[in-house]
Amino acid sequence: MQQDPADSVHLWAELTEDQWRQRLSPEAFYVLRQKGTEVRYTGDYWSNKKLGSYVCAGCGTELFSSREKYDSGTGWPSFWAPADEKSVATAPDNSFFSRQTEVLCSKCDGHLGHVFDDGPAPSGLRYCINAVSLKFVEAPVKEGKEGKSEP
Ligand code: FE
Repeated sequence: MQQDPADSVHLWAELTEDQWRQRLSPEAFYVLRQKGTEVRYTGDYWSNKKLGSYVCAGCGTELFSSREKYDSGTGWPSFWAPADEKSVATAPDNSFFSRQTEVLCSKCDGHLGHVFDDGPAPSGLRYCINAVSLKFVEAPVKEGKEGKSEP
């Protein structure tokens, strides 16, 4: 696996805007680095039901998992919890006179989306995440555990 130079020196916080622009697609740059929001139902993952993990499109950290994903009906991938509480950070977002809670990657500080308190049990939370800020990594198929066994 190719080692990411930014990761090897732990300099995510020091990457310049130009360096981020080079690393990311224009859409991912707009969301992750400029706190943009993708148009609902346009992202890759809102309807994805495959098993696997969702890593940060900026730095590759695992942020969410199919275990906590659910269909919120919003057109954005939604989760009732992160894969690991330490992987995401939250911050108050009072822009545009709204009172929302922003969700960020705690490693590279990329903007992911917002968290709301109208999610399902057990947490009651809805992490509403821009698909373009994530990359889905499909889980390897476990043989013999689920599904039909081959003759
Ligand atoms: Fe990140």
